[in-house]
Amino acid sequence: MPPIVILGSSFAALTAVKKLRKSGYTDPLLLIASRPVLFYYPSLIWVPAGKRTEQNLTIPLENFFNRYKVTYQQATVTGLDPLARLVKTDNGEVTFDSLLIASGGRFIKKLPGIEHTYLPCSSYSDIQTYTDRLNDLSGGTLAFGFTTNPNEPAAVRGGPVFEFLFGIDTLLRQQGRRNRFRLVFFNPSTSPGQRLGEQAVTALLAQMARCGVETHLGHKMKGFAAGKVLTEGGEIESDLTMFMPGMTGPAWADVSGLPLSPGGFIQANEYCQVDGFNQIYVAGDAGTFPGPDWLPKQAHIADLQASAAVKNLLCERQKKPLKHRFKHELVCIVDSLNKGMLVYRDDKRVRLLPPSHMLHWAKVAFEYWYIRSYR
Ligand SMILES: Cc1cc2nc3c(=O)[nH]c(=O)nc-3n(C[C@H](O)[C@H](O)[C@H](O)COP(=O)(O)OP(=O)(O)OC[C@H]3O[C@@H](n4cnc5c(N)ncnc54)[C@H](O)[C@@H]3O)c2cc1C
Repeated sequence: MPPIVILGSSFAALTAVKKLRKSGYTDPLLLIASRPVLFYYPSLIWVPAGKRTEQNLTIPLENFFNRYKVTYQQATVTGLDPLARLVKTDNGEVTFDSLLIASGGRFIKKLPGIEHTYLPCSSYSDIQTYTDRLNDLSGGTLAFGFTTNPNEPAAVRGGPVFEFLFGIDTLLRQQGRRNRFRLVFFNPSTSPGQRLGEQAVTALLAQMARCGVETHLGHKMKGFAAGKVLTEGGEIESDLTMFMPGMTGPAWADVSGLPLSPGGFIQANEYCQVDGFNQIYVAGDAGTFPGPDWLPKQAHIADLQASAAVKNLLCERQKKPLKHRFKHELVCIVDSLNKGMLVYRDDKRVRLLPPSHMLHWAKVAFEYWYIRSYR
């Protein structure tokens, strides 16, 4: 039986591998994931401008697995029996001693007509199709919006939608065809992006006004139809709609016997341990963690959670008390293709740096630095 099993091969899972090996853990490590790659989501925002390809964003992990002595099992997790300490997959069952769940979240695709929208968070092909459609349009209306999980308002991912909106505004200007497009931002809240702080919301709305982006705020979503966004406050004609629904937890979690949060995520305690389950931990988008209501679902915090989770997991294996908590921290560069605005938030303060070329290049440099360690 492999002593430690990790589910997923993305930010949280791979950080956990690194931290485990760094802390001197030398026993077998089994990682189960659907694909042996890291897909670098944050740079999807540069695909419409042709600055990134699928190959740039997909990092094969064979070398990393060899370097860190990870046994990889290609499989899709379908369930879990926490008492029998068994992970169920489409490729058989796997027993574990300690488990880290880092298999991410899902998007709630329940709004009627959602098939008429492009989801900027699923796969490269969605964004490539969006890009091809945008390139084919000679003019029209482009709509951008996001919502949250009604049962867990923190389960929202708005940052990338702002980035696509501002990036496409910049791109159309660079192409000399911005005047042929109407850009509309819609959101059920009157202050979208609240997790970034009031100051950031004001700055984002001011940037939309400067860029000539129309807003449709404060109206509950009804759904979509061909060429339309439907809200309780009226319809928006749209030739191309990008929409990020609210998030929920892994599908298999529903039948896992693990405690779930109101929004369907795996409920963790302050040590990233699944509430009430010894040696079962969760990190990243798969979980809900105690903390302030602005705690984001972000790669950065997934890394911090993974780090705390494995330290506690090792403590537990050595029969020591759990003591490691992750820092409540939001770090976000809202990029607009040639500039970036920095939002920083922790338990004490919110900081905002206005858009600058330097922050755009900082995001590019971070991408290079981050991906390099997995090559
Ligand atoms: C366009 C875009 C831009 C973003 N920008 C930023 C940013 O600038 N900064 C930032 O910090 N965050 C950003 N994010 C958010 C960030 O990408 C996520 O928060 C992060 O990917 C979460 O990491 P994770 O490890 O928890 O899960 P995920 O990245 O969702 O990974 C889940 C892993 O589990 C695997 N998996 C899933 N289901 C199963 C299953 N049933 N069986 C086996 N394996 C499974 C997947 O293949 C994957 O390897 C952005 C996201 C998007 C889409």
